[in-house]
Amino acid sequence: EFIILDKVDPWSKFVIKNKDIENFKHNLDDLTEFQKLKLDSSKDKELADKVSIFQGDITKLEVDAIVNAANSRLRAGGGVDGAIHRAAGPLLQEECNSLQGCPTGDAKVTGGYNLPAKYVIHTVGPQDGSAKALQSCYEKCLQYHQEYRIKSIAFPCISTGIYGFPNRLAAHIALRTARKFLETNQDMDRIIFCTFMPIDVDIYKTLLQMYFPVH
Ligand code: ADP
Repeated sequence: EFIILDKVDPWSKFVIKNKDIENFKHNLDDLTEFQKLKLDSSKDKELADKVSIFQGDITKLEVDAIVNAANSRLRAGGGVDGAIHRAAGPLLQEECNSLQGCPTGDAKVTGGYNLPAKYVIHTVGPQDGSAKALQSCYEKCLQYHQEYRIKSIAFPCISTGIYGFPNRLAAHIALRTARKFLETNQDMDRIIFCTFMPIDVDIYKTLLQMYFPVH
């Protein structure tokens, strides 16, 4: 039942491969956002293989860590948060209760319990559209990689559900932060962008090619 993302062949059939995406059409706003990051293009080839898009339920992914779009009280809510708590079982809430909440833009780690993922990284996305706070969410989650030896991590589209962050800008922030991180952290094997809504699949398919071009 669980989706195992094979370490030898990193592309399971469930994953949209970077090199198989054809309809690359970005717009002017995309270019403006994209130009905020100076890519080290010498890393393109190596990094294109470390990112992928998955469409479906993040709780099924057998990775070192899945990220939860949590609320600041770390109380099981709706959306992806509810799905993660249901799949992990009640011990997850128990551990969350011991953490004294989490501020917006920050992240805290728990075990994965009944999930196939080893850890859940709970991050609290902005509710006011703050790009800075959303970027901080991605950075804080990725910063745990050393302490917990996380080599594979899956992110949902943080803040774009109930918290109402614009989908396209959120994807730019996610991809930009991932690209920056991967350019300097060789020990991360893969970052998965777990999309759920069809609109996010389309957005990530388009933008992945800007931030992680395949030549
Ligand atoms: P937020 O409160 O941060 O906006 P939500 O959970 O409301 O978080 O939404 C974040 C994203 O997670 C949305 O795109 C939503 O469709 C998606 N989502 C909902 N359930 C799941 C799931 N089981 N796996 C992955 N993504 C999910």
